[in-house]
Amino acid sequence: MGIGTPGAISPATGLIKNANSTWLNGKPLARDLQRLIEREARFANDADCFALSEATDGAGAGAAVVFGVILGTGVGGGIVVDGRAVSGPNAICGEWGHNPLPWPAADELPGPDCYCGRAGCIETFVSGPALARDHQAASGSELDSREIAEMAEEGDPAAEATLQRYELRLARSLAGVINILDPDVIVLGGGLSNLTRLYERVPRLWDPFVFSDRVDTRLVPPRHGDSSGVRGAAWLGGS
Ligand SMILES: [Zn+2]
Repeated sequence: MGIGTPGAISPATGLIKNANSTWLNGKPLARDLQRLIEREARFANDADCFALSEATDGAGAGAAVVFGVILGTGVGGGIVVDGRAVSGPNAICGEWGHNPLPWPAADELPGPDCYCGRAGCIETFVSGPALARDHQAASGSELDSREIAEMAEEGDPAAEATLQRYELRLARSLAGVINILDPDVIVLGGGLSNLTRLYERVPRLWDPFVFSDRVDTRLVPPRHGDSSGVRGAAWLGGS
C-alpha cells in the first residue's frame, strides 16, 4: 500500500513534520496506520506522489527530470529523476514553498506571515488563499481564485492586475527552481493549475530570472489532475 501525506515522515524520528495540516505534525502517523491496517505501507509527501504520477505516465512522461508543483491551499513540490522520486536525508526534496519569494519588490517585503514561523515564503504569495488575500488587499473585494480568474476573463482591471502580479511572482519562484534543478518539465497541480493562462504567460516572464541564454524548460498542466496524488501513492506501493 502506498500513502501520500502532507509534509513528510522525519527520517530521524518517524514522526510527521512540515505538514500544513499542522495537527499531523509530531504524530506517529505511519506507525499508527500500519498497526491498524496490519500490512506494510510506503509513505511519501503528497507533492512527491503527484510528481511521480505525472513523471511516470502523465504530462512529464519520458522526461529525465520532472519538477511537480502543487499550487493549492499550500505550495509543495516533488522531484522525479529518471522515473524515481528523489527524497534526500531530510525528506524535504523539492520543498520550494518555504524559501523566500525571490527578487522581491519593496512592497513585497517582509511579506505575509507563514505558518512555518517565517514571513514572505513563496507559499504566502502563490498559494490559492494567497492569491485571494492579495486581491482583497488591492481591490477590497473578497473572491476566491476561480472567481478572480473569471472576472479577469471578463475584462475586470483589478482581477487582471491581481493575476499579473501572481504570474510574475510564480515566474520568479520557478526561475529559482530552474536555476538549481534545470528540469526538463515543470508540471503544475492543485487548484490553481486550472488557470490555463499560466502555461503561456509564466514562461514568457521567467526568462530574465533564469541564468541562461534561453529557457527550454516546459511548463505544462497535469494529465491526471486531482487523481495524480493517489496515483503516485499507488506507484510507491507498486514499485
Ligand atoms: Zn513558510
